[in-house]
Amino acid sequence: MSRFWSAVVHDLTPYVPGEQPKLANLVKLNTNENPYGPSPRVLDALRAEAAETLRLYPDPGSGRLRAGIAAYHGVAADRVFVGNGSDEVLAHAFMALLKHGQPVLFPDITYSFYPVYCRLYGIEHRTIPLTDTFEIRIDDYLTPNGGVIFPNPNAPTGRLLALGEIERLLAGNPDSVVVIDEAYIDFGGDSAVCLVARYPQLLVTRTLSKSHALAGLRVGYAIGQPHLIEALDRVKDSFNSYPLDRFAQAGALASIEDHAYFESLCARVVASRGRLVAALAGLDFEVLPSAANFIFTGHPSHDGAKLAAALRERSIIVRHFRQPDRISRFLRITIGTDAQCDTLLDALKAIVAC
Ligand code: PMP
Repeated sequence: MSRFWSAVVHDLTPYVPGEQPKLANLVKLNTNENPYGPSPRVLDALRAEAAETLRLYPDPGSGRLRAGIAAYHGVAADRVFVGNGSDEVLAHAFMALLKHGQPVLFPDITYSFYPVYCRLYGIEHRTIPLTDTFEIRIDDYLTPNGGVIFPNPNAPTGRLLALGEIERLLAGNPDSVVVIDEAYIDFGGDSAVCLVARYPQLLVTRTLSKSHALAGLRVGYAIGQPHLIEALDRVKDSFNSYPLDRFAQAGALASIEDHAYFESLCARVVASRGRLVAALAGLDFEVLPSAANFIFTGHPSHDGAKLAAALRERSIIVRHFRQPDRISRFLRITIGTDAQCDTLLDALKAIVAC
């Protein structure tokens, strides 16, 4: 605390990202990174960018990358916004589209950055409890609001909402923006991008951090009708005109264009998820159905915090959330390679046997 801080800073409760430990040889299953590396074409593109041209600013509008993302999704380029990770895209969406007179709605168990943005920007919010089976019930959101946001699949539960339910939300909520955060959609769900043409209030956000194995490059994007994209651009250009450097623009474009590699990455993670879920069930773990690159799981007779601590003693890091109380028995575990999953399973087998 300091008397030099602004009142806003005094009141902030910053987001705490999952730990990035400096130790080598850890089985790191705590931040939903991809266990495999990015496309070799990404590395080639990055090498090509390491050139004299670094003295020049990058394209402020990331034009080629936007066009590449637009082509991938089959939409016009003026429906695409790109940012420094989807966290930045989400931050701009809160400021540009969700700051109105009424509270923004999101689930009580969801991505914990949302309330942080609300605090930063002075946006009221109301949390809506997930059902007893940790599902989003759309009827609960059909009430006056300043906007709605949730991830699909949700985090940290991994549970997927069917596209038909999202459409029901859009049809019943025509007057405020609905942001669907698709950070994990490539691991098993249908994207809401196909609804953008019909719903002027829909913004879909995505990231290259998970399914493209590019968490270190920091690239995220949004798809929506041009009036929503213009709002995001206005905020971006009032904050930082060059959020994506030359490496990020070139690397992200190479990844978006390498469809075959991307699909093989997703398929490998999905196969390992199926294998891990089946093995955990054999150890009496409850595992919520997951459409993501992580699972949310707990054991009926073992405390979540203690399980996480026991795994850490064996150099395996997973994520445990103390709050709210009803998820404190769960662990969020990122899908690793099959070898990492086996190490995890051996450790859990030994721990639950004690
Ligand atoms: N949305 C959700 C639901 C997430 O879990 C994350 C990752 N922490 C993000 C968005 C942000 O991802 P990134 O900034 O790496 O694109």
